[in-house]
Amino acid sequence: HAKNHGGNRYRYFTEDMNAVVIERLEIENELRKAIERNEFELHYQPQYELPERKMIGVEALIRWNHPEIGRLPPERFIHIAEETGLIVPIGNWVLREACRTNADWQRQGFDPFRVAVNVSVVQFMESDFVQQVSLILEETGLEPRWLELELTESIFMKDHKRVGMQLTELRNLGVTIAIDDFGNGYSSMSYLQRLPVDCLKIDQSFIQDLENRKSDSERSKTLIKAFVNLASNLGVKLLAEGVETQEQSQVLNEMGCRLGQGFLYNFPMTADEIESICKKENRSLNLGMNEQRG
Ligand code: C2E
Ligand code: MG
Ligand code: MG
Ligand code: MG
Repeated sequence: HAKNHGGNRYRYFTEDMNAVVIERLEIENELRKAIERNEFELHYQPQYELPERKMIGVEALIRWNHPEIGRLPPERFIHIAEETGLIVPIGNWVLREACRTNADWQRQGFDPFRVAVNVSVVQFMESDFVQQVSLILEETGLEPRWLELELTESIFMKDHKRVGMQLTELRNLGVTIAIDDFGNGYSSMSYLQRLPVDCLKIDQSFIQDLENRKSDSERSKTLIKAFVNLASNLGVKLLAEGVETQEQSQVLNEMGCRLGQGFLYNFPMTADEIESICKKENRSLNLGMNEQRG
């Protein structure tokens, strides 16, 4: 075909651009209807205390099951949701669904664990964000200490006073705060010292670099070591994200990073699958007692 058009690159360029614009508009339109059509679903990925592999929490990760397009990963639509403001109702849906599900697991008698929810900076900066969180906790009956909010370093670029106040309000509620993709964006030691956070989640890239060229792996080890010291000095938890191999897990353990999440341990899975894990691991106090009683 290229020959027939005499190598008219401009024409191809415009067609490509159109395709991008059309896809974007289509996703935007479909996104508007997705909540009421109940097309979103949460998957949950376990987080572990190592090396015992005690499950300490799960991270909720959104999936969009579109009837025609199929399943879309968050990379395909979260940025569009952020640009259009749709992330606010979507984010509230995620919070409610995650809290409701965790409260439900607890009602079944499993040993309680935290659910971590990703919060977009756009959602976080809404004036009634804290109120929404508080409302959702009340509505679902989940105790605040079993909810962790994951924010990226991009919050450090926003109005410090306001961010600090909101984080304090959330912590006063009893909710915990994690910094996601830590080390990947803009962070400053002084913000970390001033802003109340509970956990740093080391960005996956550092973990993956552990097995790249020798120089990358040494660099990455040095940085992870620094994160371990930083977290310990600040008195916050440190969790490694994207752990894929036994070797990475081993190195992290040797360096003193005790919490981990990644494909090595588990893929993100449905709420039902988490429930089976809980049953298998005999996390259920009530069930265990009933069995004993015969
Ligand atoms: P994130 O919060 O940093 O989540 C971790 C991502 O890494 C997830 O991708 C997860 O499936 C993937 N992952 C987990 N273990 C491994 C591993 O061992 N190796 C590799 N290569 N990847 C691993 P996912 O589910 O596609 O989510 C991508 C991003 O989309 C998330 O990154 C988060 O920034 C965003 N996201 C997901 N759900 C939500 C949501 O409900 N709200 C908002 N605002 N953002 C969300
Ligand atoms: Mg996250
Ligand atoms: Mg992350
Ligand atoms: Mg990310």
